[in-house]
Amino acid sequence: MGWTRKILRVDLTRGTCKSEPLNMQWAQDYLGQRGLGTKYFVEEVDPKVDPLSPANKMIMATGPLTGTPVSTGGRYSVITKGALTGAIACSNSGGYFGAELKFAGWDMVIFEGKSPKPVYLSIEDDRAELRDAAHLWGKTVWQTEEIIKKMHQDPQVRVASIGRAGENGVLYACIVNDLHRAAGRSGVGTVMGSKNLKAVAVRGTKGAGGIRDPKAFMQAVTEAKKVLAGNAVTGQGLPKYGTQVLMNVINEMGALPTRNHRDVQFEDARKISAEAMHEKRPTDGKAHLVTNAACFGCTIACGRISQIDESHFSVVNKPEYWGASGGLEYEAAWALGAANGVGDLEALQYANLICNEDGYDPISFGATVGAAMELYDLGILTKEQIGMDAPFGSAQALVKLSEMTAKGEGFGKELGLGSARLCAKYGRPELSMGVKKQEFPAYDSRGIQGMGLAYATSNRGACHLRGYTVASEVLGIPVKTDPLVTEGKADLVKAFQDATSVFDSAGICVFTSFAWTLADVQPQLDAACEGGWSMEKLATVGERIWNMERLFNNAAGFTAKDDDLPPRLKTEPAKTGPAKGKVSGIDKMRPEYYKARGWDEKGAPTKETLKRLGL
Ligand code: SF4
Repeated sequence: MGWTRKILRVDLTRGTCKSEPLNMQWAQDYLGQRGLGTKYFVEEVDPKVDPLSPANKMIMATGPLTGTPVSTGGRYSVITKGALTGAIACSNSGGYFGAELKFAGWDMVIFEGKSPKPVYLSIEDDRAELRDAAHLWGKTVWQTEEIIKKMHQDPQVRVASIGRAGENGVLYACIVNDLHRAAGRSGVGTVMGSKNLKAVAVRGTKGAGGIRDPKAFMQAVTEAKKVLAGNAVTGQGLPKYGTQVLMNVINEMGALPTRNHRDVQFEDARKISAEAMHEKRPTDGKAHLVTNAACFGCTIACGRISQIDESHFSVVNKPEYWGASGGLEYEAAWALGAANGVGDLEALQYANLICNEDGYDPISFGATVGAAMELYDLGILTKEQIGMDAPFGSAQALVKLSEMTAKGEGFGKELGLGSARLCAKYGRPELSMGVKKQEFPAYDSRGIQGMGLAYATSNRGACHLRGYTVASEVLGIPVKTDPLVTEGKADLVKAFQDATSVFDSAGICVFTSFAWTLADVQPQLDAACEGGWSMEKLATVGERIWNMERLFNNAAGFTAKDDDLPPRLKTEPAKTGPAKGKVSGIDKMRPEYYKARGWDEKGAPTKETLKRLGL
């Protein structure tokens, strides 16, 4: 489909919606979605802006392959300055919303200002208007989607909305589309809530057209789908076990952060693994996993649809949670489970449902609960302050705290600020396990050294989806590297970061990169889009996007000292497993990485680098 060449600009302050032509030179330089959306953002927004002020903008952007027959081509991204981090934020989501936005004829939607009252944006092909959302304010994501579909009398309308977390100022609120797919990290939903924007409802009937060379495109798409089907991870592992297939693998290699990173192996990992999801429960004889699921156009289908045991304490007398719903994925299972020492699969799924229902990031939430449990363990937080006993391993506390955070009640309000602000408030900032105020995902930097560097230098704060060296260091994709050494990791991290920038900007899911390299993406992009998309051009575009994001963060006030890991990971060696005795080698890797990037010792791109990349 390439680009529709049209963007929608929504002025929430004035209540206007206007169509503009897409800047095609920028499309050639930044491709789409993450890259192109960020280009618009950095051109229009002061890096020093308060993320929750009307001067911050929020962009929903599709890629040139969104809505096409390319496998996984249903993605969209939300670009803004993150409420949790104060850094550039770009959160990517699957489901069906992104493709529908493209079918309605829009490459991206730019939201600016702040509405004086709650509104939602309705898009039906070319027609876009802001509508009153007073009756939707205070509703969950699930309620909002149902009400909008009924109001529009159209079950095909796709909805992306915030829940109560985004309204209540939870700093890691998500934007959830299609009930359980989310632009999840950095608080993009918090920014949306600060603008009094409850939802975007879109219906498109234009379909996918405008492919540059349809015959070459379909040939490239068919070949690339064969590669996915023939790969052990994308053809077998992910469809059968989902991302949670990693739980036992990462635990065995001693890289599963446990109890707020005190430990690197979790004794109950098996109980919350993909394998456990398949087993029949002794209580009701049913397996937790109901089926797998796919986002738009995806031939991998890694999604999980599960059902909680109706007799479990979390859902007794709550039939609204007895149906099948999304989860558990690996990152959520880890953050809600091992990070807190909780090995109760049903409790994890319940907390995950609450995160989906009210729109907040289970990674940041789970990790913040882990920090609170450590503060409780140390006697810094008391039962009275939290409102309950909250030792590591308490499924009851996890369940209750998820409800309190969703509603903004009691200690849930403090949890909603994230671990960095929580730990700082109680005088132990070093106990927050994250980078740039964003919590780590599910890999310990002592056991997988490259991930430590990827976390420290990630432009949106600690994140696995900005440079997933686990592929190489654990799975041997595209080549196996030793997870315990620092040598060569600077170049490895840079290569993953630049390639991921291209995947994220094309409109496809980064999970394809378990099987595809840029050489598989290039013929699909080149046949779909005008402009001649060679491998060299893609490599330059990826590096350009990374440096553009870095320039924004540097101008926002971030420095080399923000490219660091918490002291625990540098001074407390891993206690067990293959990484026993290891600490992170971040201080050795950081200068090597700056050099590989063409940055000076302060982490700023040199003049030569900027010139080479056309920045
Ligand atoms: S691989 Fe999974 S997350 Fe990615 S598009 Fe397919 S179902 Fe969605």
